[in-house]
Amino acid sequence: MSATESLHPCSEYTTQDRTAVIAMRNPPVNGLGLALRSSIIAGIERAIADPAIDAIVLIGSDKAFSGGADIKEFGSPLAFAEPNLPTVIEAIERSRKPVIAAISGACMGGGLELALGCHFRIALADAQIALPEVKLGLLPGAGGTQRLPRLVGVKMALDLIVTGNTVPAKLLAGTALFDQVVGGDLAHAAIAFATRVVAEGWALKRARDQVIDDPDAQSAIQAARASVAAAAGPFPAPGKCIDVVEAGLASFDAGIGHERAAFVELLQSPESRALRHVFLGERAATRIDDVPESTATRPILRVGVIGAGTMGGGIAMNFVNAGIPVRLLETSPAALERGLATIARNYQGALKKGKLSQEDFDRRMAAIEPTLSYDDLADVDLVIEAVYEDLEVKRTVFGELDRVAKLGAILATNTSTLDVDRIAAFTGRPQDVVGLHFFSPANVMRLLEVVRGAKTGKDVLATVMKLAKAIKKLPVVSGVCDGFIGNRMINQYSAQAMQLIEEGALPTQVDRVLENFGFAMGPFRMSDLAGGDIGWAIRKRQYAENPSMRREVIADRLAELGRYGQKTGKGWYNYVSGDRSAHPAPEVDALIGAMRVADGTRVREIPDAEIRDRLVYALVNEGARILAEGIAQRASDIDMVYLNGYGFPLHRGGPMLYADEIGLANVATRMREFAALPGADTTFWQPAPLLARLAESGGRFNA
Ligand code: NAD
Repeated sequence: MSATESLHPCSEYTTQDRTAVIAMRNPPVNGLGLALRSSIIAGIERAIADPAIDAIVLIGSDKAFSGGADIKEFGSPLAFAEPNLPTVIEAIERSRKPVIAAISGACMGGGLELALGCHFRIALADAQIALPEVKLGLLPGAGGTQRLPRLVGVKMALDLIVTGNTVPAKLLAGTALFDQVVGGDLAHAAIAFATRVVAEGWALKRARDQVIDDPDAQSAIQAARASVAAAAGPFPAPGKCIDVVEAGLASFDAGIGHERAAFVELLQSPESRALRHVFLGERAATRIDDVPESTATRPILRVGVIGAGTMGGGIAMNFVNAGIPVRLLETSPAALERGLATIARNYQGALKKGKLSQEDFDRRMAAIEPTLSYDDLADVDLVIEAVYEDLEVKRTVFGELDRVAKLGAILATNTSTLDVDRIAAFTGRPQDVVGLHFFSPANVMRLLEVVRGAKTGKDVLATVMKLAKAIKKLPVVSGVCDGFIGNRMINQYSAQAMQLIEEGALPTQVDRVLENFGFAMGPFRMSDLAGGDIGWAIRKRQYAENPSMRREVIADRLAELGRYGQKTGKGWYNYVSGDRSAHPAPEVDALIGAMRVADGTRVREIPDAEIRDRLVYALVNEGARILAEGIAQRASDIDMVYLNGYGFPLHRGGPMLYADEIGLANVATRMREFAALPGADTTFWQPAPLLARLAESGGRFNA
């Protein structure tokens, strides 16, 4: 082997006998950024120009041949700057000397398209193959939709392109995608293969030249269309993937033109912008601006959970699912037994569905150790309390924890509404106290609001952010305020829903509008699910604290009537036992009508668009305040909270991105229109200062 030469910081060029090896070196996954693309072209040109070279091997690292586009170039002009990926692929395909892709690790998206442009491909059996662009609302835009069907058949190609799923290379062995699927030393095998190609004078294979001669192509297209019609919802990309594959059945050139046009169209679609926002937003959410990634974390090997009610049981499940044993503390044997029975019932559901083995069931149940004594929490590394939402109860619990917990243990509260700083002050170690706000059902919902107290230690934050990942949650940091990010915003939304009812809308209309917007559930069905008693209890506390507060008279009346929702079979809707579907409740509509008359309210018919905008902009305006106050670190964090905790429609990317898309000037104008409506709450509809400023300057929340 010749001396290694660095062509460029992004790749190495070496030779072995008469074969050139271009090794991509752009960690972590050989993202195909401009520098790497340029260096591949340079390597190919150099090998072609060198009379001592007969063949070229293009190889990646153990971790990745290439994971595709470089996310650092996402949304920047660099992503498409020349040489862009199609240019690189054409240069390879045109080469007179054979180019062999040697594939290990991730070979995804643009990485797979690059390999498809090579004349031969040799892969490790466990290399991971995918075209995941559809998950970002796109399609493979560098020939993937055209070359792949020519190598693996139309049906298999559609499966991969339309779902974006990953398969191991060995599953595609035997198709024309791979000339060899091997184990062991990939570079060695690739060089041997290259030598043989040259020695035996093999003709170069170009995927683009293959004719699609697949009798089942049309039926595969139809089957794919049927499943997309059933599952794609508002997203255009899956259907477009099928269109471009179909366009390429006639000829590669026809297909590639179609692919290019569809790619550009999807790139500019709001749905794709939303999905790319989510992709980047989830990564951003895990970072805390003033907590460096290098911050040392505390080991969490054993966890305590206090309270085995609705939340405590679900919280405990998260940890044992991740292999972290839990001590579960309650006030009585009966409460412990009830809590454990609920956990067992949950796992039995998974067991029956075949999602959990009996062995795992036994292991998980055994990993939960029930106790009635705080002394049993002396050796845990983290305690999360999920006891009643009452500051005095929390005071007792944190007093006990301060007494027994070992030095350095993290003390967390799952409170939804109480002041984390006051709770921290119940201990002599506020630096160890943090809010971990799980959402119900806690074993299912992905969102975890990490509530950062004034004194919470940076290492505590770094530890819980890392732990969140281990238990498969999406952590979003919130500062301390009433309701944190999510509930503080939802309170404004719910208040608008209620006000619309008083002004003339009915719960069914409001729910229909929000469900058409894309929410999983409208606010009234949501309230029936959560239980009207919970909101009522919170309101009673708020009325007592703030007597001038506007009262939600209709909701209060329903609660007084015991119409709590699903749990009592009656709420805003009626329910029949054993069924969660909401049936209209004419008696509620009549009650609403009667209360409006008694109140002398001037009732009007409310347009659907007004309902949508008042509810969504109520979220947006509170979001703007939360951002300006630094309660949320960034607008995308608010969006991640809403997408993962509140059923905000994914294709809209969250309330803040939605407002950006509408245009903040339009949002502010609309809010001022609401302020001018008869009887409107003019203060409420004042755009928050940040929103007003951005509206004026043409800015965005998500800059
Ligand atoms: P819950 O009433 O279902 O459960 C509370 C449990 O705590 C009960 O089993 C009770 O026996 C136990 N408990 C009470 N005092 C205790 C003490 N001193 N020591 C040990 N155990 C004690 O309540 P929940 O809905 O699980 O709520 C618990 C906490 O989680 C509250 O702070 C609540 O605000 C918060 N939270 C609730 C939800 C939700 O949707 N239910 C969501 C997020 C956060």
